[in-house]
Amino acid sequence: MKFTPTKPISYGRQTITDSDIAAVTDVLQSDYLTQGPKIAEFETAFAGYIGAKYASVVSNGAAALHLCAMALDVKPGDKVITTPITFTASANCVRYCGGEVVFSDIDETTYLLDIHKVRALLESTPKAERSSYKGVVPVDFAGLPVDMQAWRELADEFGLWILEDACHAPGASFIDKHGMERRAGDGSLADLAIFSFHPVKHIATAEGGAVTTNRQDYYERVCRLRTHGITRDPAILQENHGGWYYEMHELGYNYRLTDVQAALGLEQLKRADAGLRRRRVIADRYRTAFAGTQVIVRPLLEGFHHAYHLFVIEVEKRRELYDFLRERKIYAQVHYIPVHLQPYYRQFGWKHGDMPIAEGYYERCLSLPMYPALTDDEQEYVIAQVLSFFDKSNVT
Ligand SMILES: *Cc1c(COP(=O)(O)O)cnc(C)c1O
Repeated sequence: MKFTPTKPISYGRQTITDSDIAAVTDVLQSDYLTQGPKIAEFETAFAGYIGAKYASVVSNGAAALHLCAMALDVKPGDKVITTPITFTASANCVRYCGGEVVFSDIDETTYLLDIHKVRALLESTPKAERSSYKGVVPVDFAGLPVDMQAWRELADEFGLWILEDACHAPGASFIDKHGMERRAGDGSLADLAIFSFHPVKHIATAEGGAVTTNRQDYYERVCRLRTHGITRDPAILQENHGGWYYEMHELGYNYRLTDVQAALGLEQLKRADAGLRRRRVIADRYRTAFAGTQVIVRPLLEGFHHAYHLFVIEVEKRRELYDFLRERKIYAQVHYIPVHLQPYYRQFGWKHGDMPIAEGYYERCLSLPMYPALTDDEQEYVIAQVLSFFDKSNVT
């Protein structure tokens, strides 16, 4: 082996350039560190990139989810369906508002929330109880966008809203039944969508997130709620005492992004397409290298353009492979521990065996390094180590 890494190769990481640093430095030397002009600039640019009418940037992805759940009026007694194979935040937003999370199993080959199982769940629920189901949170897991057209049809049939967790999928898209391109989070079918700008995601602002939508009412509510529920809009003020005057109409939070972060996000966004292309090249190389081996990579879906936040393989002896790679400075990761098995959710009665496909997947899954700055040498090293693990375990 010619190449040996000098530092760990993690499953995901940010890319920071000199122009990113310059943009951040400029803001630090400007008049506004927060609530300045960079926020609106970033929002316009991000909405344009995603293809949605509105974007509201917030302090992180979990905050974006919380504000969406509030905008959708999730209340105690409301049931919201989501997938167990996601980051816990996708489910937690329902709990922040006192609603009940109903997990439903994933599809074996896409790893996405299985729409057929959700339909069966709704159809088998007595009509009187069905009305407590208010919405669904599908997740574009790993960067594969859900078939939002199918979800929209189901949601309309059962009177549900759709909150798309698109954290993994900026730039992903699929071709709908009419041949139209639908981008993840573009607001054309889902009611609301959210993104995260955590360093492992496509666009990094350290911490950060966004809500996208085509609905003006949701957008305005999210903007108000991210800044304490306060408004200065003369059209809705109940009184007006002068230029300083504002009113708080409902209980909100400080979930704002700063201008420093927005400046970083704007620079990162300029490289989003190039980053996505690079992710797809890396994915193709992994696919080619693992074809015909014991490393399972699920096939591509016709008409679906993956954004590859993660590159997931399924293997036997996952734990041993994880440790083997770690000893060789490759920090692969597991996405995710099924959320319904978290002790917090077990207290609501969720248990082992409830989601057999998700639980089986969890036994085998491993996310290999996937980020634009991963070099060819590094990727070849990763591939060689994974394959050598299986060569070794075959002889013993
Ligand atoms: C990262 C992530 C979040 C939460 O984002 P934060 O910015 O870390 O709060 C939510 N959902 C999914 C699927 C994620 O990957």
